[in-house]
Amino acid sequence: MRDGDEWIVNGQKVWNTLAHLADWGMLVTRTDPEQPKHKGMTYFAIDMHSPGVEVRPLRQITGEAEFNEVYMTDARVPDSQRVGAVGEGWRVSLTTLMNERTAIGGGGSGTAKRRGPIDDTIRIWNDIPADQRSGAQRDKLMQLFCASEALRYTVARGSQAAKAGNPGPEGSIAKLMSAEFNKKVTEFSIELLGADALINYDFSFRRPETLDIDGSTGGVRHAFMRARANSIEGGTSEIMRNILGEQVLGLPGEPRVDKEQAWSKVPRN
Ligand SMILES: Cc1cc2nc3c(=O)[nH]c(=O)nc-3n(C[C@H](O)[C@H](O)[C@H](O)COP(=O)(O)OP(=O)(O)OC[C@H]3O[C@@H](n4cnc5c(N)ncnc54)[C@H](O)[C@@H]3O)c2cc1C
Repeated sequence: MRDGDEWIVNGQKVWNTLAHLADWGMLVTRTDPEQPKHKGMTYFAIDMHSPGVEVRPLRQITGEAEFNEVYMTDARVPDSQRVGAVGEGWRVSLTTLMNERTAIGGGGSGTAKRRGPIDDTIRIWNDIPADQRSGAQRDKLMQLFCASEALRYTVARGSQAAKAGNPGPEGSIAKLMSAEFNKKVTEFSIELLGADALINYDFSFRRPETLDIDGSTGGVRHAFMRARANSIEGGTSEIMRNILGEQVLGLPGEPRVDKEQAWSKVPRN
C-alpha cells in the first residue's frame, strides 16, 4: 500500500537464501490485486535492516539453515527504492530470474582444478578394491562421466553468451541439466559408498556464510542431500522444461486458464 513517498509492506516469503547475511533484498510485491497475476506487481530493493523486517532460519535436510523465512510487518520502503514502474514488477523479475538461472546453471562448468561432482565419484570409485567393482557400476560411471563433460561444455558455451550481456531463456538448459545431473551423480556416489554413506555426517544446526549450490564443499554426503534442492531452487525442473519448450523450441504453450483473471479471483487453497 502506498503512503506518500513510501510503501507499507506486509507479507512473508519462505526460502530466502542467505537472507541472514543480506543488507539488501529484492522484493516483489502485489500492489494491485485486481490485475491478472503477471501484472499489478511492483519491484523494490528493501533494506533488510529496516524496522518490520524479520529473518528467521529454516533448517534443511543437511542440518544447515542456509535459507530463511522473511516476515515483513508494516515495513516501510521509500518509493526511491522502487525498481521499474509501478505494476511492472514481473518484467523486472524476469531479468532477475534469468540471471539467477544462468548463475545456478553456470556452476556446472567446473573449474580448472575440478570438473565437478563427477570428480568425487571417480575418487570414490578408485578407492574401491578392483575385485569389488561391478561391470554395471563401471558402465554407469562412464555414462555419468560423458554426461558430465557434455554438460560442462554446454554450460561454458551458455555462460559466454550470458557474459555478452543477454541472459536469455537458453540459461534454462544449464539450470535444468545441472540440477538433474547433480542429483544422479551424487546418488551414484552414495551407492558406491554403500553402508559407509550412512555414517560420518554432522547433522548439527549450522548457518552457512557462503552458497554451495552442488554442496560438494561439505563432502559427498552433504552434496547428495544438498543436490535435492537443485531441481527446486531458481525454478523447478518442470518449469524449466516449460520455458525451454515454449520459448526456445517454440512449442504450443500450456493451457493457462487464469492468465487474464484478476489475481484476487484466482482460486487458491
Ligand atoms: C535451496 C533453495 C533456495 C531458495 N532460495 C530462494 C531465494 O533466495 N529467494 C526466493 O525468492 N526463493 C527461493 N527459493 C524458492 C524457489 O525459487 C521456489 O521454491 C521454486 O521456484 C518453486 O516454486 P514453489 O515453491 O512456489 O513451487 P510451486 O510453483 O508451488 O510448484 C510445486 C510443484 O508443482 C510443479 N508445477 C508448478 N507449476 C507447474 C506447471 N505449470 N507445470 C508443471 N509442473 C508445475 C512444480 O514443478 C513443483 O514440483 C529457494 C528454494 C530452495 C529449494
